[in-house]
Amino acid sequence: MQETPIIQIIDLCRKIDEIACYVYTKLADLCNDPELSTFWRDMAKEEAMHVSFWKQAEQIKEFSGIPDIFDQPDEVILELRKALASSQDLLRTCEEGFNLSKAFVLAYRMEFYLLHPAFKMLFLLLRPMAGGESPEDEYESHIAKFIDTLFKHGGVTPELELLGETLQRLWKENKNLALQATRDDLTEVYNRRGFFAVSMQLAYLAQRNGFMIGVMMVDLDHFKSINDRFGHRAGDLLLRRVADLFSEALRTSDIVGRYGGEEFIVMLPQISHGATAIVAENLLKKLRANPPEGIPLTISIGVAEGILGRNVQEDYQYLIQKADKALYQAKSSGRDRVVEYMPDDHKPLKPLAGDS
Ligand code: GH3
Ligand code: MG
Ligand code: MG
Repeated sequence: MQETPIIQIIDLCRKIDEIACYVYTKLADLCNDPELSTFWRDMAKEEAMHVSFWKQAEQIKEFSGIPDIFDQPDEVILELRKALASSQDLLRTCEEGFNLSKAFVLAYRMEFYLLHPAFKMLFLLLRPMAGGESPEDEYESHIAKFIDTLFKHGGVTPELELLGETLQRLWKENKNLALQATRDDLTEVYNRRGFFAVSMQLAYLAQRNGFMIGVMMVDLDHFKSINDRFGHRAGDLLLRRVADLFSEALRTSDIVGRYGGEEFIVMLPQISHGATAIVAENLLKKLRANPPEGIPLTISIGVAEGILGRNVQEDYQYLIQKADKALYQAKSSGRDRVVEYMPDDHKPLKPLAGDS
């Protein structure tokens, strides 16, 4: 059976990282300088860690409802296939013999293939699948180390120096690209797409482990009149401050997204019964205690909790719907408060597997 595009992409990334691991091991074996040999071996070790990241990420195979991460997955697949073929050529070249500048050019080309934006994007988004760890955390130092060593030992020709600078530039641009696709520019929390790509994986994991999850829908109160009174720029700054407050006050495992204009969504991937409302109250308290920019801003929060059934995607959407309904009640009952979802007998939502 043909795998889904995302699985094909993960598989290609793993194969390219495997080749990188062979290439660096080969360079370490062939190199006479002990310091350099250790350097190549460290590079190989880092690539081996990436390979285990991809292997763990492949668990995503079991989940049917992971949102599309790439706009043009077929194009990404074609590009990665080309990069794989070129890396295989590199490995063959590597086996033919060795000199220092050849080794660096070779490693440069290898790093260039590893800088395909798909790697960065997946490092960012598949973190939950790998138990919260991602090569993303180490990659900056991986590239920096490579460039340092290139300058120190490369007998640096102007061409090599330029190659080093190009890598550094590519790395930065890639990072921005991946962030732009998944984060909201203004607040730097996940945008809608990033939020669903990450939180859906956590929803599947929670279902598999029988964890209860919580959802909060947050909306800034009377934000239109705040913009009118203090100006749109002040409004932007407030949105930013509120997002910062969430990131500071919540656990790093909680996922925060900007759902729409002045609306945020938070997913808590493992909580005990009743905890979501407590966490939400705490956010309200923190905001009251520290009004951002001295502007008395309040927020309303709707919360819902549940254990997801087998139909994870659908149940998760219903939970969000419930939180949204609770938010509506928070608004209509006076704002500046937390309301927990309570079933409404007249307009029932689909019951969740965890409901009695
Ligand atoms: P309510 O308490 O009922 O939510 O009232 P509200 O005024 O917050 O709600 P309404 O939906 O009427 O208005 C939302 C306002 O949020 C209007 C819009 O200009 C503002 N807003 C949305 N996105 C942004 C943004 O990115 N920056 C700024 N400054 N304002 C924004
Ligand atoms: Mg509002
Ligand atoms: Mg709103």
